[in-house]
Amino acid sequence: MTAPGVQVPAGARLVLATHNAHKVGELRAILAPALPGLDPAAVVGARDVRAPEPVEDGVTFEQNALIKARALAAATGLPAVADDSGLSVDVLGGAPGIFSARWAGRHGDDAANLALLLAQLADIAPEHRAARFVCAAALVTPDGVEHVEVGTLEGTLAAAPRGVHGFGYDPVLVPSGDTRTCAELTPDEKNEISHRGQAFRALVPHVVAALGS
Ligand code: IMP
Repeated sequence: MTAPGVQVPAGARLVLATHNAHKVGELRAILAPALPGLDPAAVVGARDVRAPEPVEDGVTFEQNALIKARALAAATGLPAVADDSGLSVDVLGGAPGIFSARWAGRHGDDAANLALLLAQLADIAPEHRAARFVCAAALVTPDGVEHVEVGTLEGTLAAAPRGVHGFGYDPVLVPSGDTRTCAELTPDEKNEISHRGQAFRALVPHVVAALGS
């Protein structure tokens, strides 16, 4: 059942809990090979349905992804996919973790978050700078089926930012086995190995089952 005030576009069959059009496109691209008959218009973003945003009061990526997917499934009556992601640094005990987007205080201030992280690690030697991007992707259906998949991108933190692509902490994470930072990879190179790509790809069979086609 759809909550009062929430409009779902005609033909929508799956809703993704993000206002980021790039992520909606990414999920469509990942789903396309598994569901060749799926109309791209069947996958809509949170912006298209204008559903209320829940309080993200979970303490893990998995919990926050589920909170977002549950709220959206309840509001729209559609299967909902949500993700939650961040950077986990060993020497910081896993921080910034779920606080990655607001590590320096203001939500989404990528430059300040990066500067603070680099200052905190200034005296830490390369062999102790292990870190990873983590993404939890959750699927929740209106009748209560729930799945969560987690993807990680392991690496080490560079001493200074490098590269122009990507966002967030991309200019400092050097994926294991590479010498470039994530911001020096092309978007396609990053998608292939990224935490988000892995989590979404693992979720696809469950999404296919939820869509029943
Ligand atoms: P969200 O899950 O999109 O809200 O991301 C949370 C925060 O984690 C972002 O604001 C970034 O700081 C960080 N983050 C998550 N994924 C990435 C990534 O792929 N590259 C760089 N930073 C990321």
